[in-house]
Amino acid sequence: MHLIDKTAKETFNRIAKEKNLLPIKVTSHYLKLVKEEYEALGHYRGPLYKVVYPTKERLELRIKNEVPDFVEDRTNMPSGLENILIHKYSQRALFLITDRCAGHCMYCFRQDVLSDSQGRPLPEIEQRLDRVLAYLKKHPEIKEIILSGGDPLNIPFLNLEQTFERIIKETSVTNIRIHTRNIVFAPKVLSEKICKLLAEYRVRIYLHIVHPYELEDEVGMAIERMRAHGVRMYGQFPILRGINDHKAVLARLLDDLDNLNIQVINLFIPDPISYSASFRLPMQRLLDLMDNLYWSTSSWVNGVRLVLDTPIGKVRREDIVDWDKEKAIITFQREGKNVIYHDFPQELDEASDEKTLLWKDQ
Ligand code: SF4
Repeated sequence: MHLIDKTAKETFNRIAKEKNLLPIKVTSHYLKLVKEEYEALGHYRGPLYKVVYPTKERLELRIKNEVPDFVEDRTNMPSGLENILIHKYSQRALFLITDRCAGHCMYCFRQDVLSDSQGRPLPEIEQRLDRVLAYLKKHPEIKEIILSGGDPLNIPFLNLEQTFERIIKETSVTNIRIHTRNIVFAPKVLSEKICKLLAEYRVRIYLHIVHPYELEDEVGMAIERMRAHGVRMYGQFPILRGINDHKAVLARLLDDLDNLNIQVINLFIPDPISYSASFRLPMQRLLDLMDNLYWSTSSWVNGVRLVLDTPIGKVRREDIVDWDKEKAIITFQREGKNVIYHDFPQELDEASDEKTLLWKDQ
């Protein structure tokens, strides 16, 4: 047997371009983890495998009302800053500083925007920064900038340093935040030098870690380097069917992150985007999972919030104003605006078993 399901890979490669899906990209570091998992399980249904490789289910399970870009990133990109800046909340903006990631996640919520830009290279990074700075100067109400992408820790050190320096010196921004998954794809990127830079500019780092087995030794060392430099670390991740959709996995991951001084803020409901059905769960199961976590774990584990990112901003269970269970349509309301969410059908749901998700512990 091969480490990768060849049939699924071939089908995926055929449709990826046409459907704007991110191509397969796995770092040697992550490949080691997948290999270990595959050797232990002997099949392609392990959680780490599903993070980076396409499965038959992902290719075949399609449901109605999937859209390429659920949060409507594109409608919040100012003119001239397409695929560079998203300005949705008045005080905060998101700078897509790069469209490249060290590895690609099959569940990526931003795959449409990212795969679109793969064929149309962005302007040079200096030009992108100049344009963003010009916009920030015209919008002094923006106090926080989130560097995202792609993975901001993929850009050269000097560009990163210059970006921090110029944002703080030339604009009204007082807070810089970085979202990264390089922590699990290429943990060595978080070198002493980078950690020092993050600490110098008091950058908050949001680490996207979706499974406890992603937290292996090298990742632990990178986190320890950040901690030693006093970098403020936060976490957020989606609840994904086949990857972490079990109370035991969520509790373990949240506990491990807490032990590493990472404060987890949000657990995300997966966006109903194209080819996302194999990762989605019905709302009722998501709420039950959260209740179970709440009833059976300590407050540092269950003090997280479950959110859905939508065109009107993040919404929570308390923002549900209507739930038509027969039609599987949920309406959320935020600041007087409504958004409709088409739930994942109960009958297509298959909860993952603990034995497969936590294969190392069996
Ligand atoms: S690293 Fe983040 S942006 Fe890149 S593919 Fe994964 S989820 Fe998407």
